[in-house]
Amino acid sequence: MVSISAALEIIREHQQSIPVQTVGIANALGIKVYKVPGWPADLSGMVRKNVDSEGGFDIFVNQDHPEVRRRFTIAHEIGHVVLHPHLIGDGITDDALLRSGLSNAVEAQANRFAADILMPRDKLNECIGKGITSVRELAARFNVSEQSMAIRLGVPQ
Ligand SMILES: [Zn+2]
Repeated sequence: MVSISAALEIIREHQQSIPVQTVGIANALGIKVYKVPGWPADLSGMVRKNVDSEGGFDIFVNQDHPEVRRRFTIAHEIGHVVLHPHLIGDGITDDALLRSGLSNAVEAQANRFAADILMPRDKLNECIGKGITSVRELAARFNVSEQSMAIRLGVPQ
């Protein structure tokens, strides 16, 4: 696993154009991402330790979830790997609300990290500066859910 500063640098490079490519970031961190069919709807994603992989972990995501949701899940799991790999053990599984049994604070941290990955502030400000101000249009540009974008913008829902 690369250091946190090296990981942030890799993420930064992948934020030069939007929508940010979550699988691209994972792969650059040495982490493979697998879309799994047939999972129950209340299962979003998993991280599993893989000592044979460069990044030390594999990410699995529910193939049946919509793309915007899969992207958020992948970014959330990247957050777990980058921010607190020591808490993952052999693996963790996130439910529909992206809770894995780790503390609420740790899950909230992974969610903030995911939002930071998918909706970089500078790119958001660029779009808003160009006059794109509707939640719907910004969500489409960043390929995130309207709910995620509304939260990011602090817009009441
Ligand atoms: Zn989680």
